[in-house]
Amino acid sequence: MNAIVIPLNGWAAGERKFHSHADLEFFQTFDNTEILDADVDVEIRVVKKERKVEAELHLSGTVTVPCDRCLEPLAVPVEANPSEVLKPESLAEDWDLSQAVYDYICLSLPLQRVHPEGECNPDTVRFLSQGERTDEEAEAEANSPFAALKGLFESK
Ligand SMILES: [Zn+2]
Repeated sequence: MNAIVIPLNGWAAGERKFHSHADLEFFQTFDNTEILDADVDVEIRVVKKERKVEAELHLSGTVTVPCDRCLEPLAVPVEANPSEVLKPESLAEDWDLSQAVYDYICLSLPLQRVHPEGECNPDTVRFLSQGERTDEEAEAEANSPFAALKGLFESK
């Protein structure tokens, strides 16, 4: 699945529903390397009138991006209900909604993309920040298999 195209010819004025899906391949066609994975359902209700076509979109699913704090994959929920109106000069053509869907999904992502507190990869966070750790992160580290190895090295 690469393009989200609504066929406008061959049906009378009225209302139709279309269903599509934005996956990783879809984002790769826009050269987006920030999205690691995607699974977004795209429901489109198209209302066709004599000189106007409107689309009401319902986007719901998840995209996976790197966490700002630890760089590990972070699944971000996507939920948006934008609508689009087709330009009158384009009424005779099929309607490619790919760019609009792409833009709406990207716009719906939060500016700050971080795991909930304590759920970041403690090793990466420590490496990246070299700063203070929370108790939760310290505890997670103590429970990790690397902690035992660390003790082994230190005892020598
Ligand atoms: Zn994180």
